[in-house]
Amino acid sequence: MSEVVSLHPWKRAQHLESGHNQLLIDGVNTRELVERYGSPLFVYSEAKLRHNARDILDNFRRVHAKTRVCFASKACANLAVLKVFKDCGLDLEVNSGGEFYKAQIAGFAPLQLVFNGVAKQVHELREVIAAGIKAINVDSLSELARILTVAAELGQQARVSLRIIPEIQGGAAAGWQTGTSTSKFGMTTAEQAEAIDLILANPGALKLVGVHAHIGTQITDISVYQAEANFLIDYVRQVSARLPYPLEHVNLGGGFPKNYSSAQENFDSVAAHYSANYRTEIDFAQLAEHLIKPMAQALGEQIELIVEPGRSMVSDTAILLTRIEARKERQGRPVFYLDAGYSVLFDLYIGWYFHMLNASRADDRDTQHCRIAGPLCDSSDTYYDIEGEGAVADLIAEQPALAEHRAVLEKVLVHQPNLRELPAATEMGDVIALLDVGAYALEMMSQYCGRQSAAAVMVDVQQGSRLIRRRGEYRDLLALDVD
Ligand SMILES: *Cc1c(COP(=O)(O)O)cnc(C)c1O
Repeated sequence: MSEVVSLHPWKRAQHLESGHNQLLIDGVNTRELVERYGSPLFVYSEAKLRHNARDILDNFRRVHAKTRVCFASKACANLAVLKVFKDCGLDLEVNSGGEFYKAQIAGFAPLQLVFNGVAKQVHELREVIAAGIKAINVDSLSELARILTVAAELGQQARVSLRIIPEIQGGAAAGWQTGTSTSKFGMTTAEQAEAIDLILANPGALKLVGVHAHIGTQITDISVYQAEANFLIDYVRQVSARLPYPLEHVNLGGGFPKNYSSAQENFDSVAAHYSANYRTEIDFAQLAEHLIKPMAQALGEQIELIVEPGRSMVSDTAILLTRIEARKERQGRPVFYLDAGYSVLFDLYIGWYFHMLNASRADDRDTQHCRIAGPLCDSSDTYYDIEGEGAVADLIAEQPALAEHRAVLEKVLVHQPNLRELPAATEMGDVIALLDVGAYALEMMSQYCGRQSAAAVMVDVQQGSRLIRRRGEYRDLLALDVD
């Protein structure tokens, strides 16, 4: 079966529009950006970053004043982006000593930082305990023992929060789930009881300041958040009953979803899992109502509520511009090769869907169906799922009766539509734009196949564009090699 997501509509009120058939971001012409800065190029909208920060702070603080939004910096730790968010009043979540280092350079104070991770190293613990950060979210009993040793050595009290496993499945596909004991994250309630004993026995070195949970990413089902809130309300009450001091905060983690297309109708002609995974009604106002409000009502005004959104803060703030470098004809359809593949946009490798349009022919309605591939010497570097398509074909060849269940097989095994809709006039040299690439992209670029990482610019409605990440160069390929 042919699966094509519809190209139109693609516009987004405020920041993605067209002018003279060209894609504009915050009024800036994307073709001109490529002429000036080269391709491939990430383009972040400063106005959209600021809008998202205001949107979450206003909505969450309206229902609970003591809400703290710690942006998950692994979603985008570019210094310019971090500085914009700091300026907007966000705090930060870091996942490693390296992210802690960047947070400090961006100007975040230690009490603005929470530290996550499943295998924190001794030197990282030493750095954050010496600095006196807001909370270390403890993932295991072995880590707590390590923290105790380090804090005692430093003669300082470590502020710890315990990551609980709420046994809730979040995220629409396998691999997006982090809140169950079959995942690698967090501690069971029995382990936490033991952790609390250890904390209470060492009050000079350890203080339990909070409880933490994080249940997945791109969770598009509101009942999952309601279940998380219900679980945490009960659990916080149990933990509080054991403490000689009040618990300072409850950390609800991140995982909030954003849309990856402009309208539901984009996904009308493809398998249902695309809209289940990539379309959502959930916004920060709904999360305030169904997640923050019940927690605040049950636990009172004094408790601080922390959230750690990553994807939902940045995914829709950036586009990737990439040029067509080659063309072939296969099975009667054109195949276009872009200069950006999974070394530039890593989520492509795990089959993430990104909407695509021709920035040079943005409003064309005369369209064709084509295949789109990346430039890497790897067969999975494609904007369709050749491995999944092959697996379905193999299974049906092996067991013809399975043909009846083709739709189910495709749902489970094929993660990208096999064709893309682009203008019929699309040709060599055109600039293709991929939307909603602001999360988990800059941080995950690699130099695989000796390719250079993409540059990034920030556009600002008043000031135009400025470089926020330089393009990789040949000499960067030698930066870490020693001979
Ligand atoms: C990755 C991560 C986040 C952010 O997740 P998003 O899905 O990007 O919002 C928040 N908290 C923890 C502990 C994480 O590991």
